[in-house]
Amino acid sequence: MSADPFGWVRARAAERTTAGLRRTVRPREPDVDLLDLASNDYLGLARDPRVVDGAVRAARTWGAGATGSRLVTGSTRLHAQLEERLAALTGAPAGLVFSSGYLANLGAVVALSGPGCLVVSDAHNHASIVDACRLSRSRVVVVAHRSPAAVAAALADRTEERALVVTDAVFSVEGELAPLPALAEVCRAHGAGLVVDEAHALGVVGPGGAGAVAAAGLAGAPDVVVTVTLSKSLAAQGGAVLGPPDVIAHVVDAARTFIFDTALAPASAGAALAALDVLAAEPELPARARDAAARLADLAGRCGLAAGRPDAAVVGIRIGTPEAAVAAQARCREAGVLVGCFRPPAVPDGVSRLRLTARADLAGGDLERVAAALATVGRQAPD
Ligand code: PMP
Repeated sequence: MSADPFGWVRARAAERTTAGLRRTVRPREPDVDLLDLASNDYLGLARDPRVVDGAVRAARTWGAGATGSRLVTGSTRLHAQLEERLAALTGAPAGLVFSSGYLANLGAVVALSGPGCLVVSDAHNHASIVDACRLSRSRVVVVAHRSPAAVAAALADRTEERALVVTDAVFSVEGELAPLPALAEVCRAHGAGLVVDEAHALGVVGPGGAGAVAAAGLAGAPDVVVTVTLSKSLAAQGGAVLGPPDVIAHVVDAARTFIFDTALAPASAGAALAALDVLAAEPELPARARDAAARLADLAGRCGLAAGRPDAAVVGIRIGTPEAAVAAQARCREAGVLVGCFRPPAVPDGVSRLRLTARADLAGGDLERVAAALATVGRQAPD
């Protein structure tokens, strides 16, 4: 028996160092001369004075924290307004705000599944959906990426009375859209509910940034539930579940991440509401973010890098080994551009990537800087 119960963590750390998988927390300063293509601030609103003022006004009116869980003291008028506004934007009949997108996914998927329900999940779904599947106590079938045929086969094979299909709307690493119309058709043919995580689609995809479900003509459908985060396009923090009123009422009754978690801070609700106002006043923002992404992918291609065609604001560039991806990220940083780096376990072995996120406010000069940074990566990328 070892005297040190946590001694094993040092052995794990050594293994991760050898595999190029150590992670570092790097606190940032408020003002740095780096072009940010690593955040999820797709509409460039995180420091927009209108959004920051929304947060400040909410904090002054309601206090620094929500003071309690949603069912006790944590539900303010702001939370209710935010639920209405998110429902209106996405075309859903009702909505429920959570304190993060992660908790919205856990809450919705677990509350809507359980023993006696088959859960079918895309192999590239976000970690919050993977964790929701694990917590659901359902039989879970993980299916091939973006494959309505694989979903249909899983549903056809089931013995369970109920079934739930779960997918990201836009996948977070490579930025490609889920085949939502075909998935909805398969779900309907098999009597399954469809849960779509619009984290990377809200504010970027669909009419007025309404999301991929709206773009697919499925807004307000009685068999579709949407989850969102407020932390990306809406530049705030928090999450929500949107769908039919009876489904939302069930989530209120059953979702443990709703019932037992302190409500979203008023400042975050205020910021998200202000961001929704900006989105309504400037309906060109989603297209600007998508155009910027297309230009980033084009630049990467011209530097000889393998960039996927972006459907939203995320541009994934395949690099290969984790070490090569980390080195490419460091070269971009030296060239003044901050980019994301995805390594296992976020992606499978051998397909570590750089992840560039476009913003609606990227200017021509910014793109020149990106071109110079990506050129240094392209020169050193293996054949
Ligand atoms: N879903 C997806 C697809 C995400 O990328 C993220 C955030 N990275 C989440 C859910 C979680 O959202 P939040 O950060 O608000 O917890």
